[in-house]
Amino acid sequence: MAVVAAAADLSLLAYGDQVAGCTRCALAETRTQVVFGAGSPTAELMFVGEAPGFHEDKNGIPFVGAAGKLLSKLLEGIGLSRDEVYICNTVKCRPPGNRNPLPEELEACETHLFRQIEIIQPRLVATLGNFATKLLSGKPAGITQVHGREQQVVLGGRPVTLYPIFHPAAALYTPRMLQVLEEDFRRIPELLGLGPAPVAVAPEPVAPLHAAPSEQPLQLGLF
Ligand code: SF4
Repeated sequence: MAVVAAAADLSLLAYGDQVAGCTRCALAETRTQVVFGAGSPTAELMFVGEAPGFHEDKNGIPFVGAAGKLLSKLLEGIGLSRDEVYICNTVKCRPPGNRNPLPEELEACETHLFRQIEIIQPRLVATLGNFATKLLSGKPAGITQVHGREQQVVLGGRPVTLYPIFHPAAALYTPRMLQVLEEDFRRIPELLGLGPAPVAVAPEPVAPLHAAPSEQPLQLGLF
């Protein structure tokens, strides 16, 4: 197992180095850096969000803003840490002004995501919001329709359980959506075969409830 983990670690590092210089789409011209992904190279659980935002672009790490803090708290709530999972996005470079990724950008970048899945070989892929859900399910149904319902798909040549849930950024602004996200999160241990989730403790509110100027505008595609 240690050998498998070391091999996955090396493959992921090597692939990350390769992607760091990627110029396959126009986002290369406006990014500060590629935000490849972070976490365990042998994670059973992988989260796929939409695109890096302002803070991610500056830090080179996915989900470091307010939405990232909420994601960490939700993970803690089910007894997991960020180091035990893998977190990345459908596109690895920040769209200017946090606009939605364009179809050609999603298409250019999907190779990187599929290669990550192939190396990590997760058992469960939780898609955060519309873009990741539609891309990885290959179906047009939006997140509002399909959240909380697992689907069996083949990704990276292997059967994988896909689990669409709301994007944490959407839940920051809508208490009802936060409640749904918490409920959907509580099913993750069961889907991983870890048994029922610990008794839920509502995450503390993640300040600020209003986005910092740098994080605006909110991407409507998250809903
Ligand atoms: Fe390459 Fe993806 Fe960045 Fe486009 S978004 S330049 S495809 S890494």
